[in-house]
Amino acid sequence: MKRSKTLALARVAAVCAYAAVVCAPALAMYIISPNAAQRTFFLQVGLFSSLLAFPMLALQPVLSARMKWLDRLFGLDRIYAFHKAMAITSGVLLLIHPIALSLDSMDLYLFTSLYLPWNIQIGKLGLLVLIVLIFAALLQRVVHRTYERWRWLHNLLALVLLAVGIIHARLSGRDMTSPPIQLIFYALLALGIGSYVAHKLIGPARREKRVFHVAGVAGEKRKVWTVTLKPSPGARPMKHIPGQFQFIKPIGCKELPDEEHPFTISSYYPENDLHASTIKESGDFTSLIGGLRPGERVTVQGPFGRFSYLLYPDENEFVFMAGGIGITPFMSMLRHMAFSKAEVPVFLFYANRTEEDITFREELDRMAGGKSPKLTVVHVLESPTTEWQHETGRISRQMIEKQIDGNIEKKAFYVCGPPPMMRKMIEITRTFGVPRRHIHWERFAL
Ligand SMILES: Cc1cc2nc3c(=O)[nH]c(=O)nc-3n(C[C@H](O)[C@H](O)[C@H](O)COP(=O)(O)OP(=O)(O)OC[C@H]3O[C@@H](n4cnc5c(N)ncnc54)[C@H](O)[C@@H]3O)c2cc1C
Repeated sequence: MKRSKTLALARVAAVCAYAAVVCAPALAMYIISPNAAQRTFFLQVGLFSSLLAFPMLALQPVLSARMKWLDRLFGLDRIYAFHKAMAITSGVLLLIHPIALSLDSMDLYLFTSLYLPWNIQIGKLGLLVLIVLIFAALLQRVVHRTYERWRWLHNLLALVLLAVGIIHARLSGRDMTSPPIQLIFYALLALGIGSYVAHKLIGPARREKRVFHVAGVAGEKRKVWTVTLKPSPGARPMKHIPGQFQFIKPIGCKELPDEEHPFTISSYYPENDLHASTIKESGDFTSLIGGLRPGERVTVQGPFGRFSYLLYPDENEFVFMAGGIGITPFMSMLRHMAFSKAEVPVFLFYANRTEEDITFREELDRMAGGKSPKLTVVHVLESPTTEWQHETGRISRQMIEKQIDGNIEKKAFYVCGPPPMMRKMIEITRTFGVPRRHIHWERFAL
């Protein structure tokens, strides 16, 4: 309980710190600038919108730099979701900026005139870059195949936007001549650029020194592979808690490009330095994963994530809901429970399309009915054969009530699978009256 209170306080402190930094330039301008209060309404809106948007943009690289302390506080998935929300918010604020200034002068020349001073033109360029950035991010969700290209474009445009923004503000902002405001701007810029450099240059260079070798690549069920890694001599082994994930990047492998992708650590090997991820062929990178060869080299970054029963010590009865390859974090947790002799009741609802798709079936069936954990496995198939004796269709409220005898609302629910399945499971869980703090989920998308 004490640990969760400390975490809640630390989260509030981090959110307050973020809000304070975002508001700092606007507040400083208001306090320092003697004529601030006399400005017209639209002029104030125009100025404040840009003064709020700039720190948000400058802090974006901090949010996406995969900082361990931020992951421990919120989880990387929530940080990335916040990063996206702040990109959209700052975009809206930057759009308000020229609109409000135009309304102030009752003239649309900022939008229509081609003969503006270059410091204004550069601001318009910034706005264009931002709009492209947001559309590219939204489009990426629809056109999945373009992820790597999108990320490259995103990084480039983000840098251009920051540079253009600061030039425009420095040359056009009437209050930018004030030394305290300049100091805040440059400190924020240094923070943003520093985080970017640490994430994109220093981090990867350091990881090149902590290389892992592929110890084995084993075929599981249809189109699923378990890749086991071991640290190269002198490299630090991966220390993780069950349910966490890592980023894997092949280096100079024969069949795979040097791309970085996130995968859950499905193993729990306390007795050696090995660790493994179980990967389903689902796109251009993962469809080549079976081509990794023992001895080939990868770098890893991690562990990350808060999807682990060990982080919530007040929970002691569990319902795990897995869809397809979403079983991987549960395997790590179940293996940890078995190793640590945790005599906790666990109901695992495991949905797949066909029997062929059930990864880890033999191991799960061996664990089922055991003491640590006291595991009940409920296999659910969408397209079963006529011989299938177990549950069919999709995991439903009735199915859960049939399997769990009372006290459903006292259990902790963990969900991982395809997004539509996760949404449905969370919805069902809420209808049982399970408190939000006992519903956890992991999205396989950042
Ligand atoms: C926290 C987490 C844990 C995961 N654990 C597993 C696991 O245990 N087993 C497993 O099979 N899959 C897992 N995934 C999913 C896996 O990362 C994607 O399937 C893989 O990256 C797809 O790459 P692709 O090039 O084959 O497919 P693509 O078709 O190129 O990508 C499909 C989608 O995967 C996501 N994606 C692709 N590349 C990246 C990247 N470099 N960084 C972040 N997201 C990316 C994007 O949302 C993209 O739209 C996990 C994902 C996350 C976020």
